Amino acid sequence: MYETYRVKGMHCASCAGIIERTLKKRPEVKSAEVNYGNETAKVSFNSTPLSINTLSDIVEPLGYSFESSDAAAMGMSENKHADHPGINQSKKEKLAEIADMRSKLISVIPLAIFSIFVMGWDILGQLNYVPSQSSVWKDFFHHILPLMATYTLFVVGKPYLLGIYRFIRYGKANMDTLIGIGTTVAYVYSFIIAAFEESLKQYINVEHSYYDVTIVVIAFITLGKCLEARSKIKTGDAIEKLLNLQAKTALVIRNGKEIEIPINEVIKGDQIILKPGAKVPVDGVVIEGISFIDESMLTGEPMPIEKKPGTNIAAGTINTTGTITFEAKKIGSETLLAHIIKMVEDAQGSKAPIQALADKISAVFVPIVLIIALVTFGAWMVLGTPVLGFSQSLSYGLTSFVGVLIIACPCALGLATPTAIIVGVGKGAKEGILIKNAETLEKLHKVDVVVVDKTGTITKGKPELVKIKNLSQQSDEDLVSILASLENRSEHPIASAISNYAKNKQIQIKTIEGFEIIKGKGLKAKIAGKEYFAGNMKLIDNLSIDFNDKEIIDETSKGRTPVILATSQNILGIFLVADAIKDMAVESIKKLHALKIKVVMLTGDNKQTADYIAKEAGIDEVIAEVMPEDKLKKIQSIQNEGHIVAMAGDGINDAPALAQADVGIAMGTGTDAAIETAGITLLNGDISKLVSSIKLSKMIMTGVKQNLFWAFIYNLAGIPLAAGLFFPFFGWLISPVFAGLAMAFSSFSVVSNSLRLKAKKL
Ligand code: ADP
Ligand code: MG
Repeated sequence: MYETYRVKGMHCASCAGIIERTLKKRPEVKSAEVNYGNETAKVSFNSTPLSINTLSDIVEPLGYSFESSDAAAMGMSENKHADHPGINQSKKEKLAEIADMRSKLISVIPLAIFSIFVMGWDILGQLNYVPSQSSVWKDFFHHILPLMATYTLFVVGKPYLLGIYRFIRYGKANMDTLIGIGTTVAYVYSFIIAAFEESLKQYINVEHSYYDVTIVVIAFITLGKCLEARSKIKTGDAIEKLLNLQAKTALVIRNGKEIEIPINEVIKGDQIILKPGAKVPVDGVVIEGISFIDESMLTGEPMPIEKKPGTNIAAGTINTTGTITFEAKKIGSETLLAHIIKMVEDAQGSKAPIQALADKISAVFVPIVLIIALVTFGAWMVLGTPVLGFSQSLSYGLTSFVGVLIIACPCALGLATPTAIIVGVGKGAKEGILIKNAETLEKLHKVDVVVVDKTGTITKGKPELVKIKNLSQQSDEDLVSILASLENRSEHPIASAISNYAKNKQIQIKTIEGFEIIKGKGLKAKIAGKEYFAGNMKLIDNLSIDFNDKEIIDETSKGRTPVILATSQNILGIFLVADAIKDMAVESIKKLHALKIKVVMLTGDNKQTADYIAKEAGIDEVIAEVMPEDKLKKIQSIQNEGHIVAMAGDGINDAPALAQADVGIAMGTGTDAAIETAGITLLNGDISKLVSSIKLSKMIMTGVKQNLFWAFIYNLAGIPLAAGLFFPFFGWLISPVFAGLAMAFSSFSVVSNSLRLKAKKL
């Protein structure tokens, strides 16, 4: 088990690596995974978890702190009640941080524009496009620029100076360190040539200062960070929407009176009244009244669902017109909504395997870039001096040194994967598609075979008894009575078909004893001392009763499932059960085919029945009459053929097969356990959502790859360009000012590309 924390103070992708490595050095910490995308840390411990304060103390010298996660703040990680803060805390703080950044940005932008103007005039003047700066102007600029640069570096650029401090004090360097060194070197050099102008005059061009570089680079980087932070907030708004689904109060009956109480005072067993239009405060079961409830916010299903006594309702859904009373069954961290929030939060903070390379690169990036920058400077001095002279080489060398440090920031690299994953997981949650982690999303986009369960996935899962073939001396009614008595105890969908039939016909249920489920075959029990069996052909084969399956072939080839009722000697009757194909199934399978995905149906049901259903639904391959324990082996054998398999099932008796598949997809709310074990949970159990989830994964992974490509290209091309590698051939050398601009927009463009995915249709 791990704990999730919110991390404050991260400003770049390499921060995540620094925190991870620092935490892992502690013996108590088993593993640590820090995500720059949503600024969380997942930490697991060898024994008792370290307190949040201790953790915070560990990372504090490096400039970070730990806080409890949003879900934990709501009491959803611990066994507390949900205390709804309305809007998540991290967002409030982020907004304050952005406001602060923006006011600094506003102060520095006029300075940057002024510096660019001076710079431009200088260059254009030297090229004789405009009259050169007169000595009065030069003098003015000479005095005003240092003042402006001092403000920019020490006020707006403070985080970068702290980066240098931490580098010197603790030996930890992050992106802030690089920017800090770059801008400080430019500043200090300019200061020195001004202070020792007289004595340096004979060696170097003292006219050329770099105060403008300090100002413009810091302004651009602040601009970039502002844009990045603003878009990053938007990537994570799915959690906020989910948090806002939580009701704040509940109308309960206490001592015979209706009173409104805060949500965290609700206890299990409370009777809660739900008025028209009200939000369901906790999970429960309806005890009185009938109404339709809008569950679209959880399941993505647009039609309100009928609720009557006995049906479950979930916190966060909204009542339509009726009034109902229900009993609170699950509160606080136990509700489905709480599970969903926790899961989305975890998934958004998880790392996709594709990110590993980017992480490795960011981890070693800072020291390597420092070395590259120093080597670049050295190369300019050694190789440049004989050709260009000392003064000019020093000037180019410094330009390159600062340029490399600025352009090399792999911020975009660190944002490429997480931002797309955050958007994807959030988008999924909105559609009722719960994704366990980023790894699942990455695997899902490679799936080429989808294995589905027949009952409940392809068919409605609500079979009906359509025909009785009586092979005994007793009346139909007597047979139904026997069978219904047996089936009454079973949970199989077939059982409810029989039970419902008996209930509608008001056929009496007998007491049974020695009830036993015969896995994958049916069941048996005794009534008045006589043993009965009910199930499929395999069960009858076991009993070694002579039985010609010609009797059923006509029916099974029409897609009906036979339930054979027998004693140990005789067949009493055959009950034919039919389960209609889901409306969406045929269309969804066509869509899967369009995605070049093969669909295999796996079922314990009769071969002919399964074949018929498969043909109707357009399924490519049928594996029928499989025992539950063999489902896993079937999945394995498909995998051994080199396929990547997703398996969709109800998650109850299919758990091992779901676990074996590369991606296990649980259909329907099922149990909490099913949600936690499956890679993907489709809350409304609709096969069309299965198609959506595959499309979503493909879309997100395309976004991730685009982001990674651009981030890599940017760094790969940027460093040699800034270092002046192309200078001897083409005369190319970019000013640190442009390095700053490129660096600001690389992160922004990556985050924007991820945000773009939000608007795309599934
Ligand atoms: P599936 O979920 O694909 O139906 P199961 O292993 O649950 O697979 O069941 C396999 C077969 O066993 C069913 O198709 C049915 O023929 C028979 N069976 C299982 N449970 C019952 C039951 N309660 N009553 C009658 N037949 C049953
Ligand atoms: Mg089943």
